[in-house]
Amino acid sequence: MLAPPAPPLLEHLYPHDLVTYYRCPYEMELHRSHRTGVNPPPTPAVTPLDVVPLHRSPLFDPPVLRAQANEGRLDLFPTDRLVYLDEHEEGLPVLFAPENISIHPYVKTHGLTLTDAELGFSGRPDLIVGRSDGSLFPVEYKSTHLYVGYHEAHGRAFDVLQAIAECRLVHTALGVRPTHGIVLYGDVEGNGVREGWVDVPYGDAEERWLKVALAQIRADRTRAPVPAERNCSGCEPNAEGLCRYAAARFDRPHPGFDRVMHRPMAH
Ligand code: SF4
Repeated sequence: MLAPPAPPLLEHLYPHDLVTYYRCPYEMELHRSHRTGVNPPPTPAVTPLDVVPLHRSPLFDPPVLRAQANEGRLDLFPTDRLVYLDEHEEGLPVLFAPENISIHPYVKTHGLTLTDAELGFSGRPDLIVGRSDGSLFPVEYKSTHLYVGYHEAHGRAFDVLQAIAECRLVHTALGVRPTHGIVLYGDVEGNGVREGWVDVPYGDAEERWLKVALAQIRADRTRAPVPAERNCSGCEPNAEGLCRYAAARFDRPHPGFDRVMHRPMAH
């Protein structure tokens, strides 16, 4: 009797791929094909030379309506514990005293990368907080103001898709399903006065969105450019002169997503 055929290998994806694909699929391809190092290795871009640019990314919007933006300091309790810290990220806020840090055993055995074998997906949140009831939630930090970029085309969508991705990774790697993820904003120029955070619920609808989004990215073998000033002016491959479709010069990191853009590609 013949052995059943091996399942096809999944193209491995990262939260960074979701972010860039949601802005411009070709940007994702340029990031993946020009990254250096062996983990992960660069992958050839699939975008054909005669590709027709698009007006917007084909990725459908994440469920943003339940996300809640809050001004002020993030609510933390004396019994909360820091259970995970991406020590390779610079500039993360110090939210916990040393006695309130208790790193999860997963990190000792597996390292910092949280892996979801089922979805072929992995990444690293900035922080994970544990509550006294055993619950966990990931925190993604952005060193900018809560409302920078909010009124641009994508609004809160970038916050939401990152938080959803990190909640799923916490669930699959650490075995506890978060009910929400946090995107924490800290505007250093505001001396703490203009801090804020976005609470992103994580439920069945959000998880379903993530699964379909990853499948949609993998199924897209065109990964077309979306040339628009709002995308191209903050596109890192554009800063390096890699894109012939650019609609604007690179002039700054994309508002609110500077740390995403400059995150090591191993995420
Ligand atoms: S420069 Fe514009 S069109 Fe080119 S990859 Fe970047 S965002 Fe896409």
